[in-house]
Amino acid sequence: MSAGIRRGAFETITEQIDTVCEKMKVDETCRIRLRECERELIVHFPVRMDDGAVRVFTGFRVVHNHARGPAKGGIRYHPDVTLDEVRALSARMTLKTAVVNIPFGGAKGAVICDPKMMSLNELERLTRRYASEITMLIGPESDIPAPDVGTNPQIMAWIMDTYSMGRGYSVPAVTTGKPLEIGGSKGRFEATGRGCMIIARMATKHLDLDLSEATVVVQGFGNVGSAATKLLAREGCRIIGVSDSKGGVYNPKGLDVEDLLRYKKETSSVIGYKAAETITNAELLELECDILVPAAIGDQITENNAPSVKARIIIEGANGPTSPEADKILYDKGIFVVPDILANTGGVIISYLEWVQSLQSFFWDEAQVNDHLQKIMTVAFDEVVETSQEEKVDLRTAAYMVAVSRIATAMTLRGMFP
Ligand code: NAD
Repeated sequence: MSAGIRRGAFETITEQIDTVCEKMKVDETCRIRLRECERELIVHFPVRMDDGAVRVFTGFRVVHNHARGPAKGGIRYHPDVTLDEVRALSARMTLKTAVVNIPFGGAKGAVICDPKMMSLNELERLTRRYASEITMLIGPESDIPAPDVGTNPQIMAWIMDTYSMGRGYSVPAVTTGKPLEIGGSKGRFEATGRGCMIIARMATKHLDLDLSEATVVVQGFGNVGSAATKLLAREGCRIIGVSDSKGGVYNPKGLDVEDLLRYKKETSSVIGYKAAETITNAELLELECDILVPAAIGDQITENNAPSVKARIIIEGANGPTSPEADKILYDKGIFVVPDILANTGGVIISYLEWVQSLQSFFWDEAQVNDHLQKIMTVAFDEVVETSQEEKVDLRTAAYMVAVSRIATAMTLRGMFP
């Protein structure tokens, strides 16, 4: 055990996995293996900056578990990222890929850097060197990176190219989230928001509510939040509140989403939008509504504000928006909370579809991609709801149970080498 360096976020998630293992009487061998990441690579590498100076950067690539297939997970560029966080995120990927039953394990990578303070040339040199440092782990059959906070399709293109140069031929399936022109998938940009919309369809159907009549509040108006807002509005929902880091806007009669998207693009915030009242993010979370989609950052619904949350359904677009204490309060209030490891898997599912398309060099139109996404998420939602009813547990525990059961079964079937 890597005692002494394991602290914080990774410890929290491994404890959650372990609690579920105990509840499900998972074999001890699987349990002890799931408490650790299988592979952890730390790299320190030089990059020449535009002014001629050389800086040494630190990066990580961690594979938590690959029992169910190649490891899958994004690469984060952030000044405060830590190894502990990368471990926790890789374990979360193991759970996400298992809960939606796509044939992947979980991984994550990161470089400690501030991409906003770097030129495009510096970012390219950093990316290419980092990619070559982690080449011993990544590959279309072993570990497939994707974009995360601070990275984007261009960075995936550089990683793919660097890896391909080492092989002597193009290997598009080594990354996902690539630009369309070099093997990306249709539908990738909106994928996570679309997944939230699919979950909203399923959840309202399950609770016998009419989605086209639902009122919706969305926290966060970035990639996930804005796509979810747009697609839910197209389903006929009345979007009554949205927010970004600067605060929120509220109109009980409904916001004109296309107009708001235009406004946000022009001014870079929703604040000041004319046809609405300005509110704080704290007020937004407590608005009376049918569906609340936290799609910003973690720890937004805590024991302090959970008693005041009035939504009927919460769809966790963000990772970890609800604290464990808040979870209990929401459950007791009868709020239907669809957990992040199910609700925000649209992105990784379309990454899976991109990987398949890149491997077969045959590409699908957007309708086909979205149809696959819909099918995969529908099956996963039904399985999680069924488990929650059979085991009389909340949806988060049920999602963990579905995921852990699949991972443990794969580990047991494969056995242990040697
Ligand atoms: P993003 O950076 O595009 O958007 C984040 C949004 O949240 C922005 O509108 C920002 O202004 C807002 N925000 C930041 N701090 C806030 C605060 N304190 N209060 C309210 N709003 C705040 O990021 P994204 O890609 O949309 O990701 C959002 C969340 O979804 C993150 O938790 C991310 O980990 C999770 N997620 C994203 C994806 C994906 O495919 N992008 C997939 C799975 C999970």
